[in-house]
Amino acid sequence: MFNKILVSNRGEIACRIIQACRELKIETVAIYSEADADALHISLADEAVCVGPAANKDSYLNVANIISAAVVTGAEAIHPGYGNLSENPDFAEACEACKITFIGPPTEVITQMGDKARARRIMREAGVPVVPGSANGIRDLSGAREVADQLGYPVMIKAARGGGGRGIRVIHNAEQMVQALEQARTEAHNAFGDGELYLEKYLEEPRHIEVQILADNHGNIVYLGERECSIQYRHQKLLEESPSSVVSGSLRRRLGETAVKAAEAVGYCNAGTVEFLLDERRRFYFIEMNTRIQVEHPVTEMLTGVDIVREQIRIATGEPLSCEQGQIWFNGHALECRIMAADGDRDFAPSPGRITRWQTPVGPGVRVDSGVSAGSVVSSHYDPMIAKVICWDQTRAGAIARMEGALQSLKVEGIRTTIPYHLRILGNAYFRRGEIDTHFLERRMGLDEGG
Ligand code: ADP
Ligand code: ADP
Ligand code: MG
Repeated sequence: MFNKILVSNRGEIACRIIQACRELKIETVAIYSEADADALHISLADEAVCVGPAANKDSYLNVANIISAAVVTGAEAIHPGYGNLSENPDFAEACEACKITFIGPPTEVITQMGDKARARRIMREAGVPVVPGSANGIRDLSGAREVADQLGYPVMIKAARGGGGRGIRVIHNAEQMVQALEQARTEAHNAFGDGELYLEKYLEEPRHIEVQILADNHGNIVYLGERECSIQYRHQKLLEESPSSVVSGSLRRRLGETAVKAAEAVGYCNAGTVEFLLDERRRFYFIEMNTRIQVEHPVTEMLTGVDIVREQIRIATGEPLSCEQGQIWFNGHALECRIMAADGDRDFAPSPGRITRWQTPVGPGVRVDSGVSAGSVVSSHYDPMIAKVICWDQTRAGAIARMEGALQSLKVEGIRTTIPYHLRILGNAYFRRGEIDTHFLERRMGLDEGG
């Protein structure tokens, strides 16, 4: 086992990883930016190193400074969390070059899955159903129109290197294609440093269903069931749950076995998530694989009792998985609300500032993963998600009621949060019946269609 791990992230996920290290008796090194000198994650770690100025690109994305911090403090491994450098193959490679273990899959796998057009090809060849779309990247307008004509409009243009719900747009007809293609390419180039695009058939009312997997380097792979993440704001998840209201035992097994097949096809190791869209007829299609811990992993932890972050660290040391497929059970129901410093009534406009009051809920089946406390300053430099509330109960209705209670007890002052908005979702009659798809906020909550 490692003696010391550097946690290359901030906020709630850094705190979460530090907690896992504590349990494993591993010392931790936090990193921080100049804007984060008083952040919660620093106070939890054994050591902390400043890696640069406030801007993300100068600190939490600063590969040279982060690797130096690991070398100087004698950390044997780096946990990247999610976002930031977690899916950056150059960072994983830099770790390797400095004999530091990157807690994640092999560099080659990150590279392959980080190109979503390439990932689609690999999965199709492996017999995993993918959303109908272009076989390769789109070269030019005529190529794009040809594919779109075959698929039938509407279609979706996606950036091959896209992520975080960005670089995605819907095209309704051939005329729109001209402008959209040009804009999408420029945007993709600016946002992801690569203008490559691909096309997919636009599914009208899909659910986002993803499968958590764990793989060790002894050839064992297990699936930890599905998460339903259809409640999205502009392609970004806002509330997740497991199990999905529409996934039966047999569909769960098929989804799980398909996710395992996907992982096998790329020689996967460590924790990963295979994302699918499920259509009205319960057919599912691969959209991408996330080669990292995910924001919503606690939902699965509550349901299965498996500590996914602990497994990640164990796997990275070369240990076999602590459980076999037959030992994994799915018990009850869990929900997660992503609490953001944002105004749900004003198009989720960020609401940075100082938190003057932070009072968290208590009780059985309630978990709060947060990166802030009273006095914390929420900076506009970073992602506005400040905490996650996860609730478990034996039934879905019970878990919803528990979440309502927990959110009412979560008292935050000084900034605006999405708590009132989350409470409205939980109270929505369609939501309560499990009648949701990725357009839930627009169709059932009156959110503007734009964007
Ligand atoms: P998850 O699939 O774990 O729910 P998200 O898509 O919500 O992940 O992304 C997790 C975090 O990483 C978010 O803060 C998101 O903004 C950020 N993120 C993910 N991918 C990218 C990317 N390619 N570029 C920029 N930010 C990203
Ligand atoms: P990202 O890499 O940004 O996470 P994804 O490819 O995972 O992008 O897609 C994000 C979301 O966009 C999905 O959860 C879904 O809501 C929507 N989406 C993606 N592909 C399609 C599609 N072909 N048809 C309809 N909606 C889609
Ligand atoms: Mg995705």
